[in-house]
Amino acid sequence: QNLKSKYKRILLKLSGEALQGEENFGIDAKVLDRIAEEIHHLINLGIEVGLVIGGGNLFRGAGLAAAGMNRVVGDHMGMLATVMNGLAMRDALHRSGLKAKLMSSIPLNGVCIDYNWAEAIRQLSKGQVVIFSGGTGNPFFTTDTTACLRGIEIEADLVLKATKVNGVYSDDPVINKDATLYRKLSYDEVLSKELKIMDLAAFTLARDHNMPIKVFNMNLPGVLTKIVNGSDDGTLITN
Ligand code: UDP
Repeated sequence: QNLKSKYKRILLKLSGEALQGEENFGIDAKVLDRIAEEIHHLINLGIEVGLVIGGGNLFRGAGLAAAGMNRVVGDHMGMLATVMNGLAMRDALHRSGLKAKLMSSIPLNGVCIDYNWAEAIRQLSKGQVVIFSGGTGNPFFTTDTTACLRGIEIEADLVLKATKVNGVYSDDPVINKDATLYRKLSYDEVLSKELKIMDLAAFTLARDHNMPIKVFNMNLPGVLTKIVNGSDDGTLITN
C-alpha cells in the first residue's frame, strides 16, 4: 500500500486517438503496451484504476452522419468501436501481467461482461483494472461524459483526461505559441473563459457532482505515477 498517494481510486480517460500512436487509423500496439506499463505502476502503488476509452480512432457518429449515415446508427458504431479499443487494451493489460475486466454498457455476450456498478467496485477493490466500454450506451453522448459518469458512480477521487498537450491553455498551444498553461482552474472559470476541455454534458456532470478533473499529457513517460504522487503536472479543475 502506497501511503504517499493522494488518490486511492482514479478514472483514466483515453481518447481513441491516443491508441492510434503513429498510425493513421486503428491501434498502435506499442502505445497500448506503454500505457499498460504505466497502469501497472499505479496498480503496484495500490491505486485502483478504472479506464474509459474513446472510439475516435475507428468511428465517430458525428463523422459518419456528416457522410450521410443515420446519426443513431453512427453512434452505435462509435460505441462498438470503444469496445474494440477496450478489447485491445484489456489484452495489453493482461500481457503486462495485470488482471483486468472489460465491461460494456451494450451487452455483448461472450465478448465482454455487462456493465454492473457493484461488480465494477468489487473488482476495483480487488486490484483489477476495470475498463468501461460501450460509452454510456446511448447515442448523442461522448466518452468524456462516460468518464465523468463512471468516475462519479465508482466514487473515483479524480478523472484524469489524457491529451497530447500539457494541460489546459489560454488558447490552442499548437496554433498560438503565446498560449499560457493553467495549473488550476475552477469549473466556473472554465465555463466563463469558454475553455474547451470536454463537451458541456460531460463537464457540467463533473461540476454538479464535484468530481475533480485533471487534464494532462499522456505522452510524458511516467506522468501517471507522478500525478498520483501529487505532482502538479497538467491542469486541475475543481470547485
Ligand atoms: N458514443 C455514443 N455514446 C456514448 C459514447 C460514445 O454514441 O455514450 C459514440 C459517438 O458516436 C462517439 C463515438 O462513440 O463519436 C466515439 O466516442 P468519442 O467520440 O467520445 O471518442 P474519443 O473522441 O474519445 O476517441
